[in-house]
Amino acid sequence: MKNVELIKKLELSGALSHKEFVSLLSSYTKSDMEYAQSRAVAISKKHFDNKIYLRGLIEFTNICTNDCFYCGLRRSNCLIDRYRLTKDQILECCRLGYPLGFRTFVLQGGEDPFFDDDKICDIIGSIKKEFPDCAVTLSIGEKSKQSYKAFFSAGADRYLLRHETANAPHYSKLHPKNLKLKNRLECLYDLKDIGFQTGCGFMVGSPYQTAGCLADDLVFLQEFRPHMVGIGPFIPHKDTPFANEPGGSLELTLFLLALVRIMLKNVLLPSTTALGTISPTGREMGILSGANVVMPNLSPKSVRDKYMLYDNKISTGCEAAECVSELKSRIESIGYITIVDRGDFK
Ligand code: SAH
Repeated sequence: MKNVELIKKLELSGALSHKEFVSLLSSYTKSDMEYAQSRAVAISKKHFDNKIYLRGLIEFTNICTNDCFYCGLRRSNCLIDRYRLTKDQILECCRLGYPLGFRTFVLQGGEDPFFDDDKICDIIGSIKKEFPDCAVTLSIGEKSKQSYKAFFSAGADRYLLRHETANAPHYSKLHPKNLKLKNRLECLYDLKDIGFQTGCGFMVGSPYQTAGCLADDLVFLQEFRPHMVGIGPFIPHKDTPFANEPGGSLELTLFLLALVRIMLKNVLLPSTTALGTISPTGREMGILSGANVVMPNLSPKSVRDKYMLYDNKISTGCEAAECVSELKSRIESIGYITIVDRGDFK
C-alpha cells in the first residue's frame, strides 16, 4: 500500500499493523509528511478547535536514584548541582502561574526518596486547597500501586510516565539492569486502573532505536490508549554515556506527532520543550503537526539551569512562564489561541 493510503487507513481504523508502521516510517517522503500534518491539524481542530492548553511545569527536584543512560539527572552524574524545592517554593510557583492563566500544575522530578508518599500527598493537598479549580499532574517515576492510590486520593488528577520505548531489548540498552520495561508498563496500567488521566510517551532518535522500535511504540499506544502522549527528540547530554550519540531528528519527531494525532484523535499531545530546544520554531511546528498542549516552565529562575535533562535545554525564552505573553502571541501568529482551562481529557 502507498504511504498516503496507509495514513488514510490509520485515520479510518485507528490502527495499523507493526509491519505497516515499519514500512511507513522507513519510506515516508516530504509529501507524505505534509499529508499527515494536514490530517493531524484537521483532527486536532475538530476536537479542540484552535485552542491550546497550557500546563505549568514545576521541576521540583533534580535528585534521582535512577541511572538512565540518556538523562542528565542520572545518579552517576556528579557534575550537576542538586536541589530540592520546599513546599512553600512549589506553592509560590503556582501563585505565579495562576494569574498568568495556568489551571494545571505539573510536578516533575527525579526519583528522589526525600519526597516520600506523605510529603507528595501533603504537597498535592496544599495545591488543591489553595487552587481548587486547578488540575495537578505528577511526573515522578515508578512507584508502587499503593503509592499511586495515595496520590490519587490526595487529589492528583493526572500522571505522566513516558514508557521511553516499548521494545524490551531497546529498553535495556537505555537503562541499567534494575530498570525493566515490564515494570514501567505495569505502572502505566496501574495508573490507568486507579483513574488517573495517564500519559506515556517516548524519545525519538534515542540510541539504538530502529523503525521497528518506533513501530512497537505506536502499536503499544494503540493498545494502551493513553490520555496523553509525550514525544520529543532525544538530545545528548555531555555528562552521560550517550554524550557522543546523535540527537533525534526534527522531521521524524513531527511525523510521529502527526501519526499519534491521526491514530488517537482526542489525545492530549504536548509540543515539548525538547522540540523547542532543537529548533527555534519547534513548538509552533509541533502544533502544526497536531499537538494541542504547551508546558511552559514555572520553576524558580534560580534552579532552571540545574534541571538539565539534556544539553542546551531552553529555559529563559518564551517557554518560561513569565514570558507567557510572548508564547501566546507566537501561538496566535499561527492561528491558535491559548485558553484558561484545566484541559482535561474528554
Ligand atoms: N523521573 C521522571 C521524570 C523524568 S524526566 C520519570 O521517570 O518519569 C522526563 C522525561 O524527559 C523522560 O521521561 C525522558 O523521556 C525525557 N528525557 C530525559 N533525558 C532526555 C534526553 N537526553 N533527551 C530527550 N529527552 C530526555
